[in-house]
Amino acid sequence: MLDLTQDVRALTAAIVDIESVSGDERALADAVERALSALPHLKVDRSGETVVARTELGTSERVLIAGHLDTVPVAGNLPNRVEGDLLYGCGTSDMKAGVAVALKLAATVPAPNKDVTYVFYDCEEVEAERNGLNRVARDHPDWLAADFAVLMEPTDGTIEGGCQGTLRAEVTVRGKRAHSARSWFGVNAIHGIEPVLARLNAYEARLPVVDGLEYHEGLNAVGVRGGVAGNVIPDLCVVSVNYRFAPDLTIEQAQEHVREVFDGFEVSFVDAAPGARPGLTHPVAAAFAAAVGGTPRAKLGWTDVARFSALGVPAVNYGPGDPNLAHQQGEYVSLSKIVESERAMLNWLTT
Ligand SMILES: [Zn+2]
Repeated sequence: MLDLTQDVRALTAAIVDIESVSGDERALADAVERALSALPHLKVDRSGETVVARTELGTSERVLIAGHLDTVPVAGNLPNRVEGDLLYGCGTSDMKAGVAVALKLAATVPAPNKDVTYVFYDCEEVEAERNGLNRVARDHPDWLAADFAVLMEPTDGTIEGGCQGTLRAEVTVRGKRAHSARSWFGVNAIHGIEPVLARLNAYEARLPVVDGLEYHEGLNAVGVRGGVAGNVIPDLCVVSVNYRFAPDLTIEQAQEHVREVFDGFEVSFVDAAPGARPGLTHPVAAAFAAAVGGTPRAKLGWTDVARFSALGVPAVNYGPGDPNLAHQQGEYVSLSKIVESERAMLNWLTT
C-alpha cells in the first residue's frame, strides 16, 4: 500500500521504485488507485492504466492536475539512490516527482478552494495512439472537463505556458528526365529547388505574444529527396519542411501560411499537431501564476498540454523535475525542488 501521508520526497522515492516503463504501468496504477480509493473525499475512476480522481465540492471552478505514470526504459538506474539533495533513478525528473506532488495534494487537501481533478495516465513516452490521456479524451471527455490544467512535467519549477504546434509539408519540384551526357534535353529538378531554399533562407520567423507569453516560430527544411542515378538528370526533387507555429494559429491557418510562403510551388502536407494557448489571462490561471511566482515562459516543444487545449482547457506545464535530465541514464531530481513545488501548489489550492 502506497502511503500518501509520508513526506513528498519519500513518496517520490517510493514510486520511483515501482517500475513503470510504458506499457507496463499496471503495478503503479494499481497502487495509485488503491491509495486514492481509500480517501473518502475523492471519486475515483479508472480506464486501462489511467486513474482519475476528483473532489466534488460543487465549487464554481475546477482545475485539473495531471502527470504520466510511465517512464522510458530502465537503464540500470533503479532502485533509487540519494546523494545529498539529489534523488537519482529512472523517472525521478520525468516525471515521478511531479506525480508524487499531485498524489500528496490529492491525499492531504480534502477541501481545496476549487474542485480538483487529478489524472495519472499511461503511455506518454510512446506513440500517440497508445497515450492514456488521448484514450480518456476519446472515451470519457467528461472526466477531463476543467477550467484550467497543470501538467506536472519537468520544468525546473518554472511555469511553461501552452506549446507550439508543428506541421510537416513537402514542396515538390518537377523537371524532365534526360541522360546527363545530353543534359540540355532535360530539366534538372534538383537545380529547381534553389528558389525554395532561397525563400527558407530569407524567411523571418514570427515572435508573437500569445496570452502574455512570447513564442518563437521556425520554418526549416528538414530533408531533401532527389536523384535517379549518376548519369541521369533528375525529374523530381522534394524538400521536406517543418513549421513550428505559435498557438495563435490553427493547423489550417498554419498550412495556409506555408502555402503562401511557397506560392507557385506544389505543396502537400504530411502531418500536423496543434499548439496550445497558455491561457494565462484566465483568472484561475493568473491565480496559479501568482501563487507559484517566477516569470512564466513559453513552451516551445510539443507536449500533452495540446490535448487539453483541444478539449478547450487552457493548460501549462509546471513541475519540479529538470527537463534537461529527462530520459538520461543519470536522471535525478532535486529533493528541495519537490518540496518547493508541493508548497507552491498547496498555496494555490488552499489560500
Ligand atoms: Zn514526461
